[in-house]
Amino acid sequence: MKLRLYDTYARELRDFEPLKPGKAGLYCCGPTVYNYAHIGNLRTYIFEDVLRRTLAFNGYAVLHVMNITDVGHLVSDADSGEDKMEAGARRTGKTAWEIAELYTEAFQRDLRQLNILEPDVWCRATDHIEEQIAMIQCIEANGYTYRTDDGIYFDSSRLVDYGHLARLHKEGLAAGTRVETGDKRNATDFALWKFSPPGVVRQMEWESPWGVGFPGWHIECSAMSVKYLGPLFDIHCGGKDHIPVHHTNEIAQTEACYDTQLANYWLHGYFLQTDQAKMAKSAGEFLRMQTLNDRGYDPLAYRYLCISAHYRSDLNFSWDSLDGASTALERLRTLVYDGPAGGSVEPEFAGRFTAQINDDLNTPRALAVVWDLARSKLDAADRKATLLHIDEVLGLQLAAWKPAEEVIPEEISALVAARQAARAAKDWAQADAARERLQTLGYEVEDTPDGPQVRRRKQVPAD
Ligand code: AMP
Ligand code: ZN
Repeated sequence: MKLRLYDTYARELRDFEPLKPGKAGLYCCGPTVYNYAHIGNLRTYIFEDVLRRTLAFNGYAVLHVMNITDVGHLVSDADSGEDKMEAGARRTGKTAWEIAELYTEAFQRDLRQLNILEPDVWCRATDHIEEQIAMIQCIEANGYTYRTDDGIYFDSSRLVDYGHLARLHKEGLAAGTRVETGDKRNATDFALWKFSPPGVVRQMEWESPWGVGFPGWHIECSAMSVKYLGPLFDIHCGGKDHIPVHHTNEIAQTEACYDTQLANYWLHGYFLQTDQAKMAKSAGEFLRMQTLNDRGYDPLAYRYLCISAHYRSDLNFSWDSLDGASTALERLRTLVYDGPAGGSVEPEFAGRFTAQINDDLNTPRALAVVWDLARSKLDAADRKATLLHIDEVLGLQLAAWKPAEEVIPEEISALVAARQAARAAKDWAQADAARERLQTLGYEVEDTPDGPQVRRRKQVPAD
């Protein structure tokens, strides 16, 4: 039951072979912090978290690195338009530095709510300007750059297999489609360093060997992943929109500087959609974690919903499906809560689960095993132990859940106290009257060695 993963670079399922025995280096492209994350972005981070947990489940010591894009991601993927951070600053009336702080914290809160394990290393683009400049110098020294009026560009025609990840066909691009290239020599060339526009003082800009400006978006991920994981590490992840531009260019930069394809496996999560359209921050209105909280949903119900689909298929969001996920989660939680402690992991169910999760993270099939287990006649303690073992990968926090404490209204507590006083005074008529009044109000009292226990009466179904 070896772990197999779908590698976009090879376009096939491959057994996972780590570069260093027992270890797995994992880099995940983090958020661009010019706005809140939407629940589509969060689907990608949930997929990456399941991957990370699956690696750990298979015994690998994972080093998980995530960047924060707080500069250089332009509105257009063609390296034109404004920096999203500067646009976000204008939209909110705050500085670019303030919104970076605000939305980074909001993002980290979202991850915690979804029980996504915190990366071992967080790295901000603005904290690594030096490393990015050094890498651009390396690419320049190897002859892959040219200068235009607005920046230093990567010459994609210099790499024989540029675009292999996305299976881009350069001839087709050049001849078939008319692309706005500006001063770029080839449509697929991209900015490594952009100059601050003449006469404009940007909120975020730095000195460099080429002039004052800021790094392009792609160089941050190459420079920081190399710094923390080395020029060739195990797995690089992101959403599928990163395949044709962002990850293609990360690979180009690393090939130009280190002659590696940066990561040994490239994994991509598919989209969360609403009404069959990709959910996007730039579309203005979007659903975020807070929207789900405001509507009374448990964040982990959203996590359940995401893992009910395979990461390599698009998932259409609906409130009905989120309701379904809430109910399913509640049933699993209750089962674990009610189960006695002291059981042991049942090997057959555990093995069936591992086979599915190790088959390219097949979470829907893995959940089917969970439901077989939930409905099985297995000893309740063993069933609980097996569910908790599986939850190390699913991350639904099944062990932590407790039913909400019932809030007893003051009027009811007062009646319970009055009944106690009547009983102490052996005034049985008063005591019975208090009990009847409680029943009329929908509560029942049970006398236990610890004193009277009051709870809401269970609804008795009508005949
Ligand atoms: P961004 O903050 O825009 O850089 O995106 C953060 C992550 O979310 C990236 O890995 C994107 O590929 C991913 N992403 C963007 N839109 C969606 C979507 N609708 N569904 C799933 N993932 C997405
Ligand atoms: Zn990236």
